[in-house]
Amino acid sequence: MRRRKTVFVDADILVVGGGMGGCGATYESRYWGRDLKIVCVEKANIERSGAVAQGLYAINCYMGMQWNENQPEDHVRYARNDLMGLVREDLGYDIARHVDATVHKFEEWGLPIMRDAKTGRYQREGKWQIMIHGESYKPIVAEAARKAASEVYNRIMVTHLLMDHARPNRVAGAIGFNVRTGDFYVFRAKAVIVAAGGASHIFKPRAVGEGMGRTWYAPWSSASAYALPILAGAKMTQMENRIVLTRFKDGYGPVGAYFLHLKTYTQNAYGQDYEAGWFATLKERVGDYVDRHPVPTCLRNHALLEEVKAGRGPIRMVTKEAFQDPHKETVGWENFLGMTIGQAVVWASQNIDPKEINPELTTSEPYVMGSHATCSGAWASGPEDYAPAEYQWGYNRMMTVEGLFGAGDAIGGSAHKFSSGSFTEGRIAGKAAVRYVNEIGREQPVVSAAEYEELKTTVYKPLESYRIGRNEIVAGTVSPSYLLPLHGLQRLEKIMDEYVGGISAHYTTNEPLLTRGLELLGMLKEDLAHLGAEDLHQLQRAWELHHRVLASECVTQHTLFRTETRWPGYYYRADHPKLDDQDWHCFTLSRYDRDSGKWAMEKAPVYHIID
Ligand SMILES: Cc1cc2nc3c(=O)[nH]c(=O)nc-3n(C[C@H](O)[C@H](O)[C@H](O)COP(=O)(O)OP(=O)(O)OC[C@H]3O[C@@H](n4cnc5c(N)ncnc54)[C@H](O)[C@@H]3O)c2cc1C
Repeated sequence: MRRRKTVFVDADILVVGGGMGGCGATYESRYWGRDLKIVCVEKANIERSGAVAQGLYAINCYMGMQWNENQPEDHVRYARNDLMGLVREDLGYDIARHVDATVHKFEEWGLPIMRDAKTGRYQREGKWQIMIHGESYKPIVAEAARKAASEVYNRIMVTHLLMDHARPNRVAGAIGFNVRTGDFYVFRAKAVIVAAGGASHIFKPRAVGEGMGRTWYAPWSSASAYALPILAGAKMTQMENRIVLTRFKDGYGPVGAYFLHLKTYTQNAYGQDYEAGWFATLKERVGDYVDRHPVPTCLRNHALLEEVKAGRGPIRMVTKEAFQDPHKETVGWENFLGMTIGQAVVWASQNIDPKEINPELTTSEPYVMGSHATCSGAWASGPEDYAPAEYQWGYNRMMTVEGLFGAGDAIGGSAHKFSSGSFTEGRIAGKAAVRYVNEIGREQPVVSAAEYEELKTTVYKPLESYRIGRNEIVAGTVSPSYLLPLHGLQRLEKIMDEYVGGISAHYTTNEPLLTRGLELLGMLKEDLAHLGAEDLHQLQRAWELHHRVLASECVTQHTLFRTETRWPGYYYRADHPKLDDQDWHCFTLSRYDRDSGKWAMEKAPVYHIID
């Protein structure tokens, strides 16, 4: 095997992933840790990486406390309602009380925020959203992180965390490889903050073949935020709480500005308002959650899904009326041009002018994430001044592994953070990590050379497998001795789709399906030892697949454990079709034992701190 250079980097704080959470963590770590070495490592380039890479048109989490528009308590109530009762109120409150200060910083750094001409306040899109000219949102945020970091390492994919060999259950750093040069990196750090985004492409997407990159969640969000802590033995929570989005068909263009600002509405193929008609039957499943205001997102999905199943699709967004107003027409198009250009291109290519035709909506394949309208992720310690004792075991946002922190999609239990809340949570984690590093003082975690040397062999093995087996290739890509990352990905997506509640199963599953799904995932995991990578790009795909498979297994275990249907519209346990507050008004927790490959599941209580 070609000898690959090993580069050693020592840090006090290592931030894995330079998206919104990672940039916030890097920025705040420097504020509190003036003399510390703060390193950010990112598999792309922080200038344009993560879910905000393309830009956004709205900041979806802003209280407006300076104008008394909302208070943090209101946001907790909102998130709790939308998540059908189950949120970590301590974590949500902690973000909500600090998020406005984050947004003010963004404005100070040059992000143009739209203002209401009459009031002078930020232009609201909805109760929580403010409108921005956000094409350059990510570069603006990245600049602050770049200036704060001691070093930023772009183009390095982190594959594993390192553990301390002097003390059990303590993190000691991470390893990865440069996706351009192929160099191997060993990062030794006292604290690690994982902020590596959510997970797309674990369920089969609606757009396959040449269109498979067209998913709602970013295709490069590859579940590292979950797999890295899972492998390190961190507890995960609510991993069954996958998200399904109602979006414009084929381009996944966002609908928020359309509903909230343009005041467009939906109807079925026959021009009828269908939504409320499904709520009576829904009440039998979920009780009075359906009467809450606003109606939880999953329940609105449910109505759309049922209407389509009843044969009255497609569902359309009524844009023809709003688009007669030139201002609204401009906003409608700009909304896409500033953040989802692909939707404008899809409409152009399909002869859809929303002034003339009401465009179709559809529901996406499921994704796993912790910052949007669902709350999958790591189980984290809460704020010292606010969290119930049972939610506190150390430092704010520290996972159940010592020295391992997280932010954004990585942290579970607290949905509706969005871009601003993820950055804020990064700041919270950064501040806590600095305190942790200062308190452990000179006590450096011990990194074992044997461990990283062994991992080095493991990391590059797909290149080796390809080199040895490539002469047996048939038809360009079919090999008897190795599996290509794309083939592995498609196998994963098919298993998740058919057994764990994807689009072709109408988001429905049950115990026998999940059990079989786990068996098939187990076989896929075995075959991952035979991945073959043609080049460094494919090596990255290989490791993304490893991360996706482990996260998928976790999702499946959680879905099996929760024997109720808590979020109809996101997924259905056909063998337990009703919401069951008696037994399941709780969080689900899992812990993976990497030696035995076994999962331990448990419940944790939900504390309602706010009335
Ligand atoms: C389609 C879409 C629309 C959205 N619209 C809005 C909106 O209008 N308003 C709003 O406020 N929010 C919006 N959000 C939400 C917002 O983008 C996310 O909440 C936020 O980006 C999450 O922050 P994060 O740091 O967890 O993840 P990200 O910002 O995605 O950052 C994760 C980073 O980790 C890196 N990474 C991943 N794996 C590795 C690895 N193994 N090694 C090294 N680096 C790695 C990635 O490259 C990326 O840079 C939207 C999200 C999506 C997907």
